[in-house]
Amino acid sequence: MAKNHHIIFKKRPGVNGEPAEDNFGYEECDYPCDPQNNEVLLKTLYLSIDPAMRCRMNEETGVTYIGPFGIGDRIGGFGGVGVVVKSANPDFQDGDVVHAGFNWQWVENFLETPGEHFPLRKIDSSLVNGQVSLYLSILSLTSGLTSYLGVKVKGHVTPGANQTMVVSGAAGACGSLAGQIGKLEGCSRVVGICGSEEKCQFLTEELGYDSAINYKTKDVSSELQKLCPSGVDVYFDNVGGDLSNTVIKQMNTDSHVILCGQIAVYNKDVPYPPPIPEDVQRILTDKNITRDRYLVLNYPDKFESGMKQIVEWTVQGKLKVRETIEEGLQNAGKAFVSMMKGGNIGKQLVHVGDS
Ligand code: NDP
Repeated sequence: MAKNHHIIFKKRPGVNGEPAEDNFGYEECDYPCDPQNNEVLLKTLYLSIDPAMRCRMNEETGVTYIGPFGIGDRIGGFGGVGVVVKSANPDFQDGDVVHAGFNWQWVENFLETPGEHFPLRKIDSSLVNGQVSLYLSILSLTSGLTSYLGVKVKGHVTPGANQTMVVSGAAGACGSLAGQIGKLEGCSRVVGICGSEEKCQFLTEELGYDSAINYKTKDVSSELQKLCPSGVDVYFDNVGGDLSNTVIKQMNTDSHVILCGQIAVYNKDVPYPPPIPEDVQRILTDKNITRDRYLVLNYPDKFESGMKQIVEWTVQGKLKVRETIEEGLQNAGKAFVSMMKGGNIGKQLVHVGDS
């Protein structure tokens, strides 16, 4: 019998604790039976590693759209790319390479009925030139579409309006795309905030960001004053906390925060979105700054047109992507822990197997 392995959830880090590798366990499990009744047998090629998994590690996630992991359960992650090993479903053939944006199990091989836990879609290999992992980064729900639709629906970017955009978590999966999209949509200046010199260089030398600030070594407030002399018009916020309070203090009247994520407080026992200090709330109110909750899942009607635009920019070479790939399913927990601490540039993925 062929061998199979999966990752189980072993231990909660605690609502105020940092996730650790021993929260996850790599174990042998049964190899699935042959597919029946519309099922497909899938072999995982790549897994998407996403910050939203952090809230699933608590007993209560604090959000309605995903539930907590059970202790001892196999991790049901976010996106995955795999190959159909054997199909009992007329829509899929053996050898099809497929992807899904949600609920892909952290296991080498598994049975799935397409459409039951997630829509399963075939990969258009002509779009990605063999690099199928792109379906979990630039062509994915949780980074490509999240960045694009965030800018579109919450950013109010107006070509010719000489707007300055600031992006936090700027060298990550969403952030690295958001700033490029801000420019493509018409912002005249884009400034990224991230956690290392290497990341700053990536933003300015490879992605076309005008400038970048290393928040770990620089005073963000004074750097922003220098780099954004006419203030901030659009803030793509992946991070929250003190860093975001500092940015909001330099925002213009009638400007816009794209409240994408608040990773700085994911290891803290606070509601989502977390409360912000009174003085910052007063600035938002006095300056009429919008800061609505943003969840990509709320815009399914815009997925198709959004993806069309992302594909067009990618094919034209206008939108660039980076992936940080950890090798081996046994290292999926390690990859998650590393991403939460800034170990990634661009999208964090795990390479599990080959087709
Ligand atoms: P990233 O690829 O950006 O990885 C997370 C990054 O966060 C790290 O690389 C690290 O970079 C940074 N970070 C971690 N802790 C802190 C901290 N305390 N202060 C500042 N930066 C920190 O992840 P994603 O692009 O996948 O996700 C980005 C955000 O978008 C997350 O908040 C996520 O929850 C959110 N999201 C929201 C969606 C929506 O629908 N609204 C959908 C998908 C994601 P550094 O080295 O710079 O510190």
